[in-house]
Amino acid sequence: MSYQHILLAVDLTDESAQVAEKAVSLAKQGATKLSLIHVIEPLSFAYGGDVPMDLSAIQEQLDEHAQQRLSNFGNTLDYSVEKLYVVSGHTESEIHRVAKQDSVDLIVVGSHGRHGLALLLGSTANGVLHGASCDVLAVRVSDKKSD
Ligand code: AMP
Repeated sequence: MSYQHILLAVDLTDESAQVAEKAVSLAKQGATKLSLIHVIEPLSFAYGGDVPMDLSAIQEQLDEHAQQRLSNFGNTLDYSVEKLYVVSGHTESEIHRVAKQDSVDLIVVGSHGRHGLALLLGSTANGVLHGASCDVLAVRVSDKKSD
């Protein structure tokens, strides 16, 4: 059985290409739709009401910049992208929400295979796995410092 719609979670770091490579190769096997998502944590999450200024203009610029970067990233892939999602909110719940909303049957995320304290603190891959309503593929990302 092949997947119908893959959602690739992209954090726009250097490791995104490694994760995308796996997602693209799976998509090619089944002529599957491939969409990309990047989640922006709103500035208000970090600063709340502590900053006595209107952050909306800065937030808008950050959103536009992320949209452009995700679109550029999509253009580097050897596969045509169905949809690009730049959404703001909590990363794991936004990935779950979009996956449900768009009948995604596989979410692909990167994973560092952390251990010790970092594992206890959790990772995005962990968070996405818990509560997902479809399959999740955690692609092991090589961490140059420890591998
Ligand atoms: P992390 O556990 O934060 O190092 O992230 C591991 C993986 O989670 C990344 O390779 C992405 O697949 C996904 N991810 C992390 N942050 C985001 C984000 N802001 N938007 C979309 N995906 C993300």
